[in-house]
Amino acid sequence: MIQTPSYKTDYEAYRERMRRLADVKAALALMQWDQETYLPAKGAGFRAQQIATLAEMAHKMATSDKLGAMLDSLEESSIPDETERKNISLNRLDFEKQKKYPASFVRKMSEAVSRSFNSWNQAKKENRFSLFEKDLAQLVELKKEETQLLGYSGHPYDSLMDEFEKGSTVKLVDRIFSNMRPKLQELLEKILGKKTPEDAFLYKSFDKKKQWDYGIQVIGSLGFDFEAGRQDLSSHPFSTSFNKYDVRITTRIDESDFTSMLFSCIHETGHALYEQGLPESEYGLPSGEYASLGIHESQSRLWENHVGRSRAFWKFQYPLAQEKFPDAFKNVREEDFYKAVNKIKPSFIRTESDELTYHFHVMIRYEIEKMLISGELKTQDIPECWNEQYRKYLGVEVPSDKMGCLQDVHWSHGSFGYFPTYSLGSFYAAQFFASASKADPFLAEKMETGNTEELLQWLRQRIHASGRLFTSEDICERATGETLNVQYFLDYMLDKYQKIYEF
Ligand code: ZN
Repeated sequence: MIQTPSYKTDYEAYRERMRRLADVKAALALMQWDQETYLPAKGAGFRAQQIATLAEMAHKMATSDKLGAMLDSLEESSIPDETERKNISLNRLDFEKQKKYPASFVRKMSEAVSRSFNSWNQAKKENRFSLFEKDLAQLVELKKEETQLLGYSGHPYDSLMDEFEKGSTVKLVDRIFSNMRPKLQELLEKILGKKTPEDAFLYKSFDKKKQWDYGIQVIGSLGFDFEAGRQDLSSHPFSTSFNKYDVRITTRIDESDFTSMLFSCIHETGHALYEQGLPESEYGLPSGEYASLGIHESQSRLWENHVGRSRAFWKFQYPLAQEKFPDAFKNVREEDFYKAVNKIKPSFIRTESDELTYHFHVMIRYEIEKMLISGELKTQDIPECWNEQYRKYLGVEVPSDKMGCLQDVHWSHGSFGYFPTYSLGSFYAAQFFASASKADPFLAEKMETGNTEELLQWLRQRIHASGRLFTSEDICERATGETLNVQYFLDYMLDKYQKIYEF
C-alpha cells in the first residue's frame, strides 16, 4: 500500500518557497530604500532597470505553476492548524490576483514608477509640475489599465484601493468622508473663532545635529529597537522593512521648525514598531505580514498623535527638550508647548498639518485620484484643481506646486488609492487608543513617566502578533469589541480641542 505523504512535508516545501519569494522582495525593497536615501544621481537609470528585473522575478515566483500546484495539493489536504490553513487560503487569493498581471505589465509599471519618481524629484526641486506631468500621465494610463486587469464591480478606483485596504470601496469611503466632512468643518470653524495658541518658539533655530540626537532619543524611548533597524535621511519620510530585525525609517530636518522632524520620527516609529512586532517564525507568509495599510497607518497615527501630541508624553519629554534647546524653550511653559504642538492651522503640507485639517488634505487627494482614474480629470489640470480645492476646504492660497500638488511622493510611486488609508488609520487609531486606555486606566500616568511599554504590548498582542490573518475590520473587532466606529475619533478630537481652545 502506498502511504500518502503527510501534508506537513508539503506545507514545509510551500513555506520554503514563500521564504525565497520574501528574500527577493526584501532585496527589491532594499534597492528602493537606497534609491530614496543614498543612491548617487547618475545611478538612477541602472537602478530603475535593476528594480524592474527584481520586480519581474518576484512576480514570476509569486505566479509560478509550481506554487499553484503546491496550493492545489495543500487545499486538498485536511490541515488541522488554523494559521496554516489561513495562510494557504490567503496565498491562494494573492496568487490569483498576481496571475491577473502579465509579466510585461509588471516590468512596464516598475520602469514607469522609477522614471516618474526621478522626474517628480526634479520637478519638486525646480518647482515645475510640467517636468513630472508627462510621466504622471503615463502612470495614470497604466493604473487605468490595471483596474481593467483586476476588474471591479463599482468604481474603477475600488480595485486600486483594495490593494492597500482590502474591501474598501468608493461607496464606503464616500460614506465615511461625507459623514466626517461637515463635522470636522464645524469643529474647525469653532476653533478658528478662538484665540490661537502662541507657537513662534517652535520656529526658532534648531541645530541639525541636536535635532537628530533628540529624535533618536525619542524614537528609542518609544521602544524602537536600534539593533533591528535604523534611521536615515530622505526627502520624504517613510518606513520600510526587510524582516522584523531590519526595519528602516527615514526623516528630514528643517532647522527652522522643531516639529517637522520630530513628528515624522514618531510617526515612522509607529510603523516600525508594527514591523518589529510581526512574528519571526512566519517570515514570508501572510501570518508574518502587516494586515493592511489602514492598520499600518493606525499604528503610526496612534504613536504620533495619541502619544506624541499628548499632554502626558510631554510631561516627561519636555524637560529633555528644554535641556537640549534652552534658547528656544527655557522660558516656555510645558502647557504652552503642548498647546503649540497641537495648534490648528489650515496649511499646505499634509505631513506637517494638524490632526484636524489633516483629513481635508486626504479628502482632496482622494477626490482628485478618483477623477484621474475615471478620466474626469486630466493630469495637466491637476495644479488648478488642487489649488481650487485648497481654497474651498482650507481657505488657503497655494503659493507654488512644490507646496501643492508636487508635495507628496505617492503618485510618483504609482500609489493611487493609498491616501484614504491615512484617514482610516487615524480613525482606527482613536478606537484602539480608547480601548487600550480602558484596559489600563494608568496608561496616561505611565506615559507621564516615559513608560509606553504596556501600550506597546497591548498593540503587539492584539494587532501585531496576528500578521495578515485577519481583515482590518476583524482586527478592530477583536481588539476593541466593535468594528470601525468613527465616533471614537470625533469624541477624542472634541475632548482634546475643547480643552486647548476653551470652548
Ligand atoms: Zn504613515
